[in-house]
Amino acid sequence: MIRTQPHAGGWLEVVCGPMFSGKSEELIRRLRRAEIAGQRALIVMPAIDDRYDVGHVVSHAGAKMRAVTAATSGEVRRLADGYDAVGIDEVQFFDGAITNVIDELVAGGARVVAAGLAQDFRGRPFGAMPTLLCLAEFVDKLEAVCHRCGGPATMTQRLVDGSPAPFGGETIQVGALDSYEARCRACFEPGLDAGSVRAIA
Ligand code: ADP
Ligand code: MG
Ligand code: ZN
Repeated sequence: MIRTQPHAGGWLEVVCGPMFSGKSEELIRRLRRAEIAGQRALIVMPAIDDRYDVGHVVSHAGAKMRAVTAATSGEVRRLADGYDAVGIDEVQFFDGAITNVIDELVAGGARVVAAGLAQDFRGRPFGAMPTLLCLAEFVDKLEAVCHRCGGPATMTQRLVDGSPAPFGGETIQVGALDSYEARCRACFEPGLDAGSVRAIA
């Protein structure tokens, strides 16, 4: 797709999809190009996501770029001050005020690239993603390869001891002993138990 970038001012790009769809890879690619073009570029990630190398965003394939961590969206605002291009990884983990912070950065002339999970492990819209998707100038929804059938995966399957995680479990469990797979809608197992209802919103 050929895109014309705005001549002036800031804008928001959202990169979303399930786990393993290449969001971090794409974020790194875009921010590295901005840096090569001589722009002041920064990647911020939530402090909650300490799975990898401290001080770097690392993709599942090993691509790496230095990054700073922020515990709150207010901290994102402070850290991003003075940068031309701001990448935010795992944006769905930030508090709801992240939408206003991003709006302010864009209004101040920054190019913001926000990458994050579109859906949680239940298949529901995740955190601030729905709002960010509506506000963005440019949106990319990436697919992974379904671990089951090899088709295009748009969902993230959480497994506990190899079985679908219960629908009623906590949404955020970074570093817990569960594992994740990318799955297509047909292969996705929602982990419904007797008391849970499959409602999207
Ligand atoms: P995300 O940030 O969306 O979780 P990453 O950018 O960290 O994704 O990782 C993408 C890389 O993960 C791919 O380039 C590929 O090498 C690897 N990978 C592992 N499992 C899968 C899968 N099921 N589908 C696609 N890529 C996968
Ligand atoms: Mg990632
Ligand atoms: Zn499948």
